[in-house]
Amino acid sequence: MAKISINIATGSLQQAEMIVGIDLGTTNSLIAIIHPESKQAVALQEHDSSSLVPSVIYFDELQNAIVGDVAKQYLETSPQNTIFSAKRLMGKSYQDVQQNEDFFSYKIIDDNTESLVKVQVGNKFYSPIELSSFILKELKNRAEHILKTPVTKAVITVPAYFNDAQRQATRDAGKLAGLDVLRIINEPTAASLAYGIGTTVQEAEQTIAVYDLGGGTFDMSILKINHGIFEVLSTNGNTYLGGDDFDKSIIDYWLAQHNITATTFKEDKQLSQGLRLRAEEAKKHLSNADNYQTNYQNFSLSINKETFEKLIQPLIDKTLACCANAVKDANISINEIDTIVMVGGSTRVPLVNKCVSNFFGKTVNNSVNPDEVVALGAAIQADILAGNNKNFLLLDITPLSLGIETMGGLMDVLIPRNSKIPSKVARQYTTQKDGQGSMRISVYQGERDLVKDNRKLAEFNLTNIPGMPAGLPKVEVSFMVNADGILKVKAQELRSGVEQTIEVKPQYGLTDEEVEKMLMDSITHAKDDIATRALVEAQTEGEQLLSTTEKFITKHAAQLTKEELTATAQAMQALQLSLTMNDKNLIQTKTEELNNISKPYAERIMDNAISQAMKGKSV
Ligand code: ADP
Ligand code: MG
Repeated sequence: MAKISINIATGSLQQAEMIVGIDLGTTNSLIAIIHPESKQAVALQEHDSSSLVPSVIYFDELQNAIVGDVAKQYLETSPQNTIFSAKRLMGKSYQDVQQNEDFFSYKIIDDNTESLVKVQVGNKFYSPIELSSFILKELKNRAEHILKTPVTKAVITVPAYFNDAQRQATRDAGKLAGLDVLRIINEPTAASLAYGIGTTVQEAEQTIAVYDLGGGTFDMSILKINHGIFEVLSTNGNTYLGGDDFDKSIIDYWLAQHNITATTFKEDKQLSQGLRLRAEEAKKHLSNADNYQTNYQNFSLSINKETFEKLIQPLIDKTLACCANAVKDANISINEIDTIVMVGGSTRVPLVNKCVSNFFGKTVNNSVNPDEVVALGAAIQADILAGNNKNFLLLDITPLSLGIETMGGLMDVLIPRNSKIPSKVARQYTTQKDGQGSMRISVYQGERDLVKDNRKLAEFNLTNIPGMPAGLPKVEVSFMVNADGILKVKAQELRSGVEQTIEVKPQYGLTDEEVEKMLMDSITHAKDDIATRALVEAQTEGEQLLSTTEKFITKHAAQLTKEELTATAQAMQALQLSLTMNDKNLIQTKTEELNNISKPYAERIMDNAISQAMKGKSV
């Protein structure tokens, strides 16, 4: 897609609704719009400069934030004041990033007040949201300068694996930058839009794989497009895998070659950043050449294509493993995929294209500039939101099941994993105790049967339920996942109308490894889980029978025979005892025995009550 500099003289851009598309990348960010005349998506750029704005922030002596190419120059000379890869910190706790701490040459702190990380520059602390807002502000300023019109509305893209917290953080960053974020969309979804696949309703159904290898993240998505409707069949990926890791493998190679110890490298921030920049330069050079050579400080740094390819082969293999998982999750076979779309600057490496082609058994599609394709798609989405393009309807999916805790610590799934979003589900629950005035709603994410094995997202109390006998209140819990993938939970007691709503913003996010682990655990523990669930259900049923029998006896003791009372007491005791033993069959037997004893007299007493009620009434 050709880049066009916008002609400001025409004044044709002075429209009320200027919605821009933004790719807020780990490495590079950019802004795109639909050109008002050509109706084509174009990345904004000033004159001959690049459309890409490095996602780097340099803080000068006065703590002014300088973003982009200028900031990138300070990576070497002022590493403590120059922030890169801030996106990797979005919605993350200190614990999440601790193991990758070496990666960052600036100071990441755990301020103890909340579990989210902050970055310390001089004597100031910045959250990843603030850092991202500096980048967005720079993009906004650029766009306003080029378009000569205020830019206040945007669509921003995020990796498919971003969870609620990370999406919310991205939204907040937009708000801080003075942007009204109309929609957060997945990067691979945007990329497929930019490829114009599915632009007409007449088009036949097709299946697309989007392979996005950027600087810091890898995303794999499989989409089905049918009559202009986009449906994400599955997503997979790794938020700690990208071109930065290619650079790292070159650095490690040079360190070994020049006998530089890991400690020296770590302590000499200038050296580490210097090597980092040269490693990236080498990598890019090798996309079109066979050898790279340069001098830096006292070192002669060189690498050839063959060596480089050997170094990165294991990293590419990791991405292919994700591809295999995505294909499996989509429930399709590889040869059902019609097109493979390549996205992200790292797909310029010839070996990446070759390996991905081999894996899918098809030539990959890389005709749209891989650096810009996501922003272009975001601009197309913005155009749809502005009401200019009604051909599309976007469907996304939830990566993990969402549910609440019910009796006995069981997970009751309301929205299963891989459900299409936006989605809304409601289910009714009731109280367990007479006069129970409040009900605790605990929201969980995960695939296991017991909530203790899943991840808690939120918890709240529905209070002020009017006093009613157990089982009478009708508490409807509804889950609404909006188009951004953000979950809203509402609990309402239907008889009284008492209600409470929360928006789920988990304290910090899951890495894709954790998502994967949760899925794997659910498979390996499936058998245990079924057994545990059966036991818990038997226990709950037994407990409930004990409590109702006790109530019944207290109320109707006068109408029971001595034998009945004794037999009931014995059966209750036996059941009580069985509940303390983790034997499902025993509990079920004892429950049945108590039921068999109480059923005949319960029916007799109920019949009496009915005939009593009928007496005196003229029929
Ligand atoms: P992100 O989406 O993470 O911001 P991009 O899609 O902009 O990332 O990709 C950035 C990555 O692409 C960087 O690691 C960069 O070094 C790499 N890259 C850019 N151009 C080339 C090239 N010609 N050859 C190899 N890698 C490249
Ligand atoms: Mg990207």
